[in-house]
Amino acid sequence: MKFALVDNNKTAATKGAKGFCPVCGSELIAKCGNIKLHHWAHKGNRICDPWWENETEWHRLWKNNFPVDWQEVILHDEQTGEKHIADIRTTHGLVIEFQHSHLKPEERISRESFYKNIVWVVDGTRLKRDYDRVVKGQVKFHNTNNKGIYLVSDPEQCFPSAWLKSSAPIVFDFRGAESTNDTNDLRKSLFCLYPVRIGQESILVTMSHEFFVKLSINGEWPVLMNNISKFRQSWQYIKDMQKRQQENLTFIRLNQALRYHQNKRRRF
Ligand SMILES: [Zn+2]
Repeated sequence: MKFALVDNNKTAATKGAKGFCPVCGSELIAKCGNIKLHHWAHKGNRICDPWWENETEWHRLWKNNFPVDWQEVILHDEQTGEKHIADIRTTHGLVIEFQHSHLKPEERISRESFYKNIVWVVDGTRLKRDYDRVVKGQVKFHNTNNKGIYLVSDPEQCFPSAWLKSSAPIVFDFRGAESTNDTNDLRKSLFCLYPVRIGQESILVTMSHEFFVKLSINGEWPVLMNNISKFRQSWQYIKDMQKRQQENLTFIRLNQALRYHQNKRRRF
């Protein structure tokens, strides 16, 4: 953990310091070696929140974009007594989880139902093939009338499939802990998949890291989601109309063909 309670204050680890776990209340030891990131650990490396994953530099870089009060917030389900540490919880009630390691679908589902209002930020650098797949899959990103919004015709071919059944927005970060100045580098953008599809197509929104942070800090994430939802409805409407027109056209053509053959028969 990045923070422990020292005199009831959220405190970062410093050499020799002792603090208390904000989840279980037991004593924590500051680990300030040269290799791993400075952090707090339970004695015997016990973990009291089974959802906690060891932090990478990538986790820390992301968390540092937000106020300290919003980082590592303990959330409590009063009915079940369950407690978990949210990576970020904004004052607007949005939970942002930064996920580096693989997550089984059943675990993802239980976290989504615990946190409810959640956005996943997934480290896309863990498996090299995930970025290669996006680069190849670009041909399946179709422009819409809205800048930065795409329809992806075969999302399973473009993104890690384990995340595609999520009920929450998934933000893939292929940049990792590095930075890039190359404006043509796809990794400069975050790839956000909206959880509801239009037929077989996924809605993809690309945005910069800075824009994502700004949206989250200003509490504007629901506004974006709402706009995408409206976009989805209108796009679905257009598709339905096109389908109906096509069906109508087929019906008219069939009718014409039928009449043509009837007339032909009458002539003989
Ligand atoms: Zn604990």
